[in-house]
This record gives sequence, C-alpha cells and structure tokens, in this order.
Amino acid sequence: DRRWAKAMEIVKEMQEKCGTPIGKLKQVADAMVVEMHAGLASEGGSKLKMLISYVDNLPTGDEKGLFYALDLGGTNFRVLRVQLGGKDGGLVNQEFTEVSIPPNLMIGTSDALFDYIAAELAKFIAQEGQEFELPPGKQRELGFTFSFPVMQTSIASGTLVRWTKGFSIDDAVGLDVVEELTKAMKRQGLDMRVSALVNDTVGTLAGGKYSYKGVAVAVILGTGSNAAYVESAQAIPKWHGDLPKSGEMVGKVYCSWSSHLPLTEYDHAMDNESLNPGEQIFEKLISGMYLGEIVRRVLLKMAEEAAFFGDIVPPKLKTPFILRTPDMSAMHNDTSSDLILVEKKLKDILEICNTSLQARKVVVELCNIVATRGSRLAAAGILGILKKIGKDTVKDGDEQKTVIAMDGGLFEHYSEYSKCLEHTLDELLGEEVSKTISIEHASDGSGLGAALLAASHSPYL
Ligand code: ADP
Ligand code: MG
Repeated sequence: DRRWAKAMEIVKEMQEKCGTPIGKLKQVADAMVVEMHAGLASEGGSKLKMLISYVDNLPTGDEKGLFYALDLGGTNFRVLRVQLGGKDGGLVNQEFTEVSIPPNLMIGTSDALFDYIAAELAKFIAQEGQEFELPPGKQRELGFTFSFPVMQTSIASGTLVRWTKGFSIDDAVGLDVVEELTKAMKRQGLDMRVSALVNDTVGTLAGGKYSYKGVAVAVILGTGSNAAYVESAQAIPKWHGDLPKSGEMVGKVYCSWSSHLPLTEYDHAMDNESLNPGEQIFEKLISGMYLGEIVRRVLLKMAEEAAFFGDIVPPKLKTPFILRTPDMSAMHNDTSSDLILVEKKLKDILEICNTSLQARKVVVELCNIVATRGSRLAAAGILGILKKIGKDTVKDGDEQKTVIAMDGGLFEHYSEYSKCLEHTLDELLGEEVSKTISIEHASDGSGLGAALLAASHSPYL
C-alpha cells in the first residue's frame, strides 16, 4: 500500500546516499593522503589530527626482563605483568587482571581516579609470588596505555588535552598524566617508574610487531576508531627534535576529517546533537558508538512518515542511542528463516511487537546499509595510510608482507562488518597487491605493547 511504498522510498534513498562505489572510496583515500601530508607539515595544518608518539623504535623481540603495563581506555582498565625472555625467549609469562572503573570516578577528581588505579596496581603486585621480586635498588618498570587525546612531550610524559568516552574530570585536563600516576603510586607506597606512555593504537602497533615482523599499521575499531603507523621521520616537517637513529617515528592518526564522505540527513542530525558537532565526522560513520544510532534514526523517520510500525510511533524509538551497535549486529547476523532474533530485539529494546517478516527483513537491510558504508569507509581509510607509506603498490625486493594489526570490539565481534572491510580492502588494492598485505587481529595487544616499550626504554639497559 501507500505507507509501505513511502517506507521503501526512505530505505531506497538511504541506500543511494550511503553508496560507496570503489571510485568514491579511492577519492576518500586520496583526500586522506593529502590531509596526512598537511597534518605532518604543521600543528593544526589539517583538520585531520596527526600526533607524534615519540616512539621511534618498535619491539625487536630481544626485550628481556619483568615489566608491567596499565591499560586505561574506556570503562575497564587492565593491569598486566609480562616476563620477557629476550632473544628467542619470547613471552615467558603473562598475567593480567581487569577491573571496571566505578562511574563516579569517571567524573570525579584526578587524584581519586589515579589513586584508584594505583591501588589496583598495588593489589596486583601484593599478590604476586616471590619469583617476581626485584633485586634491591631496582625499580619496577611500567608502560602506561592511556587512550585519550594527549599532547606528548617525550616518550614518558604528555598532557591531557581533553577527556572522551564519558570521562569528565576537569582538574586533570592540562596535567601530565604520567606525573599524576607517579604521584598516586607514591601515595600507595609503590616504588615504580613509568618508562613509556602510549595510546591504544601505538600499544597495538608495538604489541603486534612483537608477533608479526611486518606490522606497519595498527587500527582500532571499537567505541571509537583511530590508527597509528610507522612513518619516516624525514616525512614529518613539524618534528623539530633530533632525527631518531631508526629514521622512523610512529604517528597517530585521528579520524577527524570529512571530505568526500557520503553523508545523509541522519548523520547530520546525529552530529548536530553530539557533544562535538562538526568534529570526528569520519569516526561517526565507521565506529561502534554510532552505527546503531544511525539505524535508529532511519527507523524513527520510517515510523513517523510511513507508519512503518503501525499508527503509533513507538515511543522507545525516540530515545537516542537506545539501539546499540551490538544489538544491531545481532539483528544483522540473524540467520533464522523467520528472523526470530530481529523480532526479539525489536520487542525487548524498542517495545515494538507484532512485526511482519517483511518488515523485519527491511530492518536487517538497513543494518546492512549502515554497516556496509562504515566498513567500506574504514577500508578506504586504511588504504589512505597504506598509500602514505607507499605500500599500495608492489615493489621489487619487498619480501615481507605488510601487516595491519587490528583490534577493538567492533572489529572483533561484528563479523559482517569485518568481513566486508577485508573484502573491500582487497578490492581496493587489487589482487596482486592484496597478496602482500595481511590483516591480523592483535587481540589485547595494547597493554603488551606498552610493556614492551617500557622494556625498550628502560634506564637499566
Ligand atoms: P573501547 O573502544 O571502549 O576501548 P572495545 O574495543 O572493547 O572498547 O569496543 C567496544 C565497542 O565495540 C562497543 O562500544 C561496541 O560499539 C562494539 N561492540 C562490542 N561488541 C559488539 C558486537 N557484538 N557487535 C558489534 N559491535 C560490538
Ligand atoms: Mg580499547
């Protein structure tokens, strides 16, 4: 009937506006390369934020000794201890504990947060066996993975630019997070030294490199997304320090540009109502925090303008962020012939009952449209980085595969998304080149990476 036709019109328009033909994706990748050059030339030279990590040496595999890591990046944090065996010794022993951050500490004071973290670390150390005792006079060493925007000032210092991901602790902004952690460890009576400060992408790059020699890029696709990659130090005009011996420097790429992106009215509205309008547009199309919300907005329009769920617009459907990406992915992945899971999700989350099979199919189709656009754009972003480092073509003499270390809950759990991302990257690179690139899931590499970097920056070397 007329309503159904109207609903289908909305879906069709969404489909068209979200289109990501290969030509478009190549444009996105090319635009990204231009922006990366500008971002490396000068601070604020591009909308694309490019930060320098001060990591100029990735793990070699020769790291040796006992090291710790703290990984703080979202709602959970991890304490990790690794025993590194040195050349050919590998990872002898690894142990970790994961603790969630109490919500009140996410909006409290700097001291309260760091005291909590240091106390968990002290607890972890108090429980360990004698074999981990250090000789007198030797400090324990720690790598700190802190996944919030930081203006780094050395490998082991950096000031917090702003909080993200629901954290809001005003008195910490502008402070050196390593100094704050060090003071809190002192208050706990812990004699420890922070030897490296990284974020999750740099940690994943370092952790990935320990397992796969060819790692050149790390990408996190979780609540948010960003990337890190190995850049030639000479290609960073804004770097005024000494040129590192390795000739290389790890750069951090934030998903903060917006040229050539296929945007819809739903994306614009979501952005306008967000905490950071006009910013991180690319991230808002590809990452876990937003995909489900985009689907909700389209469904709401269909309910309002085409009575897609009946005469009454389901009230729950008006609640922002009520449809989370894990639920979207569950619906998208529903393989039952009558889409029982879609029915259940619509009922449980949105209180929409009595949906027809036909309507449920449309819901799945919408999930597919939004996830496909996101994952194909993410692939284009990866192509941009590969282009920047000249790995988008096959060069004579290149024997090692270039490895992309991936992590994050979206990549790990949303299989349609990750499959589509990998296919699209192959499609973009072409058969010959794609044989020289591999994507590896570097699960929880970010903490390990920080411990490895603490090892290679140890003052005891
Ligand atoms: P963070 O990015 O906060 O460090 P993770 O890497 O664990 O945390 O990613 C968590 C995000 O991954 C969630 O916010 C969600 O968007 C996404 N996610 C988790 N599980 C799934 C799932 N089953 N399907 C789709 N997305 C998921
Ligand atoms: Mg994370």
